[in-house]
Amino acid sequence: HVRVRFAPSPTGPLHIGGVRTALFNYLFAKKHGGDFVLRIEDTDQNRYIEGAEDYIIESLNWCGIPFDEGPAKNDKFGPYRQSERQELYKTYADKLIEDGKAYFAFDTPDQLDAHRKQHEAEGKTFIYNWHNREKGRLINSLVLSKEETDAKIAAGDHFVVRFKSPKDQTVSLTDIVRGEIKIDTNTLDDKILFKSDGMPTYHLANIVDDHLMEISHVIRGEEWLPSLALHKLLYDALDWKAPEFAHLPLILNPTGKGKLSKRHASKLGIPVFPLEWVNPETKEVSLGFREEGYFPEAVINFLAFLGWNPGTEQELYNIEQLIKDFDLDKVQKGGARFDPDKTKWFNHHYMQQQLDIELAHTFKSLRPELKDIDINYVALIIGLIKERATFVSEFWDLSHYFFIAPDNYEEKASKKAIKPDTIEYMQKAIELIAATREFTVENLQAKIKDWITEHNIGFGKVMMPLRLALVGALRGPDVFEIMFMIGKNETLKRIESFIG
Ligand code: GLU
Repeated sequence: HVRVRFAPSPTGPLHIGGVRTALFNYLFAKKHGGDFVLRIEDTDQNRYIEGAEDYIIESLNWCGIPFDEGPAKNDKFGPYRQSERQELYKTYADKLIEDGKAYFAFDTPDQLDAHRKQHEAEGKTFIYNWHNREKGRLINSLVLSKEETDAKIAAGDHFVVRFKSPKDQTVSLTDIVRGEIKIDTNTLDDKILFKSDGMPTYHLANIVDDHLMEISHVIRGEEWLPSLALHKLLYDALDWKAPEFAHLPLILNPTGKGKLSKRHASKLGIPVFPLEWVNPETKEVSLGFREEGYFPEAVINFLAFLGWNPGTEQELYNIEQLIKDFDLDKVQKGGARFDPDKTKWFNHHYMQQQLDIELAHTFKSLRPELKDIDINYVALIIGLIKERATFVSEFWDLSHYFFIAPDNYEEKASKKAIKPDTIEYMQKAIELIAATREFTVENLQAKIKDWITEHNIGFGKVMMPLRLALVGALRGPDVFEIMFMIGKNETLKRIESFIG
């Protein structure tokens, strides 16, 4: 049975890289009829940020990647916050010590620093492992007697529990994305598993929970690859079967160089967070895809393609299609370049799929000018202009003249459209429009065009000033369409004030 988890640490807003990890977990789970678990890894109290957990949950909900189990949801394997599972981890740390797989270490940060410096001076890197730990230079329960160790702990000395990394071994395992991986244990530090404040580190808590929550596949970012050997050794030390692993490729800056950074992205005016985030301490505001006017469907679609592709030409995928076509064997190893233009292209596409009435509500909430305008009218206008828009925030520029009369006429356009005979033509147009009983696009068009043809007037001599009168510029859809939409009275009023 497939069970996967997304295990963010609430140390700040979720980066879209995190959302991509969540998405791939979700897709894999749903594809295989499995469960998608949200686990909050909040054991590092120093880095805990107020509001980050709510942000994570709101982001997943907005993106449409709901979890099956998690905080306050379906408590089968809960609690799902590591801070609420604290007691549990100590049991396993104790067991590892008892079995000789882990040990207490009492070195202070200053002592460790001194060792590091001394090694550096000798041109070596300091690795806290068998090479050093049993020589008596480092202070730990492998060189102290049981009595000395107990006395130190009882006296409240600072301690940590470290994993006893094996000497001269090769850890081999298969990563679903990367294939065969071999790691020489002599390169590994004896990582800290547990601290004297009673809190486990990420490594211990992570594997204990993955085991107890019966996680079958660990799908996470490439930055966790260096921890993989330790995790495998921990599973072995506890006599547990390790899950399968899949490490997802990095997301790169648009240039293709370096990991996608907030700094780089904000220079291009694009977000790296799903939702806007206000730093609770500095009050600094970071852009969010939601607030910038991206549709969740577009965000999902572009994220899916950051590291995965179906191997066909198809680029447009909704979540159901993704569930159907996604699999880990089509995930690439190499970094995936984030392409802002493509992201906008997806947004333009999903804009066309939205219901006009839904867009109308959003548009209305953005523009006070629309407060008293009928929602169905707003929706109709959106239907006419949305083909040219990528974001709802562009609607006003594309459509204001459907709602309010122009308060000026573009200079360049005026020069082009206004000729000595313009007033005369506009007066005639007013007459014709006023006499149109059934005010339809077809009737208006027939009347004006017949008159133009009959009198052999240049088409532009009439149509350009008409457009300028209605729009204030020489753009927009069909002139008769605009007349029809704003109605007879408003049409006449605008032409009159244009020549008046
Ligand atoms: N808490 C880790 C993180 O913040 C989880 C890594 C993992 O998935 O094992 O990404």
